[in-house]
Amino acid sequence: MAAMRWWGWGHDDVSFTHEDKPAFGPFLRHHLALDATRVKSRPVAFGNLRIPEPSLAPALQVALEEALGGGLTSTDSLDRVVHGRGKSLRDLVRHRRGELGRLPDVVVRPGDEDEVAAVLRVALDADAVLIPFGGGTSISGSLEASADERRTVVSLDLSRLSRVLAVDEASRLARIQAGAFGPDLEWQLNAQGWTLGHFPDSFTHSTLGGWIATRSSGMQSDLYGDIGDLTRAVRVVTPSGLLVTRPVPSTSTGPSVREMVLGSEGRLGVITEATLHVRRVPERRLILGYLFPTWAHGIAAMRDVAASETAVSVTRVSDANETGFSFATRKKPSILDRLKSKALTTYLRRRHGFDVESMCLSFIGFEGSQRHVASQRKLVGRIVGRHGGLCIGSSPGALYDQKKFDTPYIRDFLLDRGALADVSETAAPWSRLSTVYDTVMTSAHGAFEELGVRGFIMCHLSHSYHAGACLYFTFAFEPSAQRDGLQEYDLVKSAIQQAFIDSGATLSHHHAVGTEHARWLEEDISAPGVAMLQALFTGVDPGANLNPGKIV
Ligand SMILES: Cc1cc2nc3c(=O)[nH]c(=O)nc-3n(C[C@H](O)[C@H](O)[C@H](O)COP(=O)(O)OP(=O)(O)OC[C@H]3O[C@@H](n4cnc5c(N)ncnc54)[C@H](O)[C@@H]3O)c2cc1C
Repeated sequence: MAAMRWWGWGHDDVSFTHEDKPAFGPFLRHHLALDATRVKSRPVAFGNLRIPEPSLAPALQVALEEALGGGLTSTDSLDRVVHGRGKSLRDLVRHRRGELGRLPDVVVRPGDEDEVAAVLRVALDADAVLIPFGGGTSISGSLEASADERRTVVSLDLSRLSRVLAVDEASRLARIQAGAFGPDLEWQLNAQGWTLGHFPDSFTHSTLGGWIATRSSGMQSDLYGDIGDLTRAVRVVTPSGLLVTRPVPSTSTGPSVREMVLGSEGRLGVITEATLHVRRVPERRLILGYLFPTWAHGIAAMRDVAASETAVSVTRVSDANETGFSFATRKKPSILDRLKSKALTTYLRRRHGFDVESMCLSFIGFEGSQRHVASQRKLVGRIVGRHGGLCIGSSPGALYDQKKFDTPYIRDFLLDRGALADVSETAAPWSRLSTVYDTVMTSAHGAFEELGVRGFIMCHLSHSYHAGACLYFTFAFEPSAQRDGLQEYDLVKSAIQQAFIDSGATLSHHHAVGTEHARWLEEDISAPGVAMLQALFTGVDPGANLNPGKIV
């Protein structure tokens, strides 16, 4: 897997454009007063970056090379810049400006668990900082070394640990190395007829180890579960040796060590391998599109689907703003598409009393045998009908499914045009979801008003559970130029995060804590909860050598 752009998402040959989406320019003008054709800002040229010399004592360099063999330790400038941060908005803005922060001094690429252990031993002996690096897609500031870190910083890139090692067919468990990227991992499993079923939006550029270390959630989590549900056992290289848990279906061995590793963001050690639930590649996959007259109807329908005997793979409903955004990012429609869409709008208005401004687009996914999918579809159809919803067929869902991994490129497009766009996501019980939504909307608009900017915020519900669901907000605005853009971003992002906490939701459903969300941790899990985590990290890593400063 080639490294991503040092200043943005993905690869150089892919980018988002408004040119083939006729409604997108007008949408940006209307909601953000932004001209889609006007590029206002570009990343500083790589050659103009001021990259400090690495602080790497010759003895440490030799020890790392002995641990790994030559060629697998790198002090190359691009390598260090790419490994310096993840892909949060703050990361992108500062990288584009040429503000690189505390770069790692050296990037190392071990090829197996023994080499990981050898690198950790060398780092501990030299009192260096070690930061595990998966795909570098962290959106919560989980990868950057502290600005005042004086010790040598080693970025440990796991990409060479990329194999599916074995599948236990009877138990439906696969042993997989932690550095495997989403597509490669699925390809290896699919070749044997299996799938992990974990598809986060960052799938193409993130790794198994990163998913586990951040408690990631994929689009089909309703059926497959989050990574925490999928991960049965882990192997972790820690300062006191190799931690191994058993791949048993359940256990009564006191507080779960496996759970402690989930979401540990590199603070307890380096995950080298995990044993995960896998399932047979389904005979049929189908994502159907639905329209609901309002957001409240859509949420109620998702809640009833979750409470029913259906077992769907995706439940997702967008609010009216996000529905408008989805329609605005459609590619140039054919004449037939235009006619169909006009007929549908007229039909919805006349026959069902839909107001086009408040209607909400939803996707529900089905997987399994042909018979299972057909029966699920019927059950869901009845629930949707009870909430005034209408099925609009499989083409919107198929399009969404194909395009979802390209969505992250929009942030770079907007940054080029001077606008800041980011996401904040949470989870709450069903009974609190509408309060959370309303509080966030009020807080975000309050923040836009305080800044005197035109801002836009939209939301979707996804990942439904027995007791609640995830709400995923996306917001954008063009900074006022009265103060630093990131200060203005902070105000909006903090208003949203605080609204989560104030309305009984969590600081993050699947983006982790990192440094971005750490200030809300105590309000979320209480002071004794933070003290327990602190004691855990200090107990395992008394020298604070493992990715210090993250989470707490
Ligand atoms: C555009 C975009 C879309 C996203 N969509 C989703 C989504 O749909 N669902 C979702 O869950 N997340 C999403 N994320 C967040 C991010 O992709 C996840 O947090 C992902 O799990 C990180 O994986 P990674 O391999 O890139 O890890 P990295 O970013 O490299 O690392 C993340 C953290 O994990 C630690 N780590 C990595 N590998 C290991 C290891 N082997 N052992 C110990 N610690 C390790 C790192 O030290 C760091 O603290 C998105 C991010 C972006 C930018």
